[in-house]
Amino acid sequence: MKKFDVNSVLDGVQASLVVGETVDLTSVHIRGLSPFTDPVAITAKASVVDGVATLGCVYTYRLSLICDRCLTSFTKEVSQRSSHVVVRSLSGPDHGEFVVAPDGIVSLEELATNDIIPELPSKVLCREDCKGLCPVCGGNRNQVQCGCKPKTVDPRLEILNKFFES
Ligand SMILES: [Zn+2]
Ligand SMILES: [Zn+2]
Repeated sequence: MKKFDVNSVLDGVQASLVVGETVDLTSVHIRGLSPFTDPVAITAKASVVDGVATLGCVYTYRLSLICDRCLTSFTKEVSQRSSHVVVRSLSGPDHGEFVVAPDGIVSLEELATNDIIPELPSKVLCREDCKGLCPVCGGNRNQVQCGCKPKTVDPRLEILNKFFES
């Protein structure tokens, strides 16, 4: 377990502490996939901001994803920031803004999991304008121009077809 001892900042002994670490989230599964193929790099800084012990983090990681539209796998580099107030105990509600560390020691695995997993996209596209798969031949329209004709073109023809069917 990767631990970050922030006691000296909580006690006001030191103004700031910085740690650089990596955490392994490769066992995380989302919708049957393991998006983390490499360790997540964290730079965490504990410091006193406006009299409050604050933990600022920068995460950099690579996600291995599958496009929802064309089913191609691709990777995406992500850089993400978070900021939390560190406390030893909490009496009020926590909406994710606090890190509670009774012994002044923060688990970086837990922190990374709580910061990153909720931010993962539920819908992924390999690119904004992904053309997806051809509904006729199943070809990837980003890569091939199959030239298939869509089944319905003209809404007026559609009405005529319906007329003749009934
Ligand atoms: Zn795609
Ligand atoms: Zn096609």
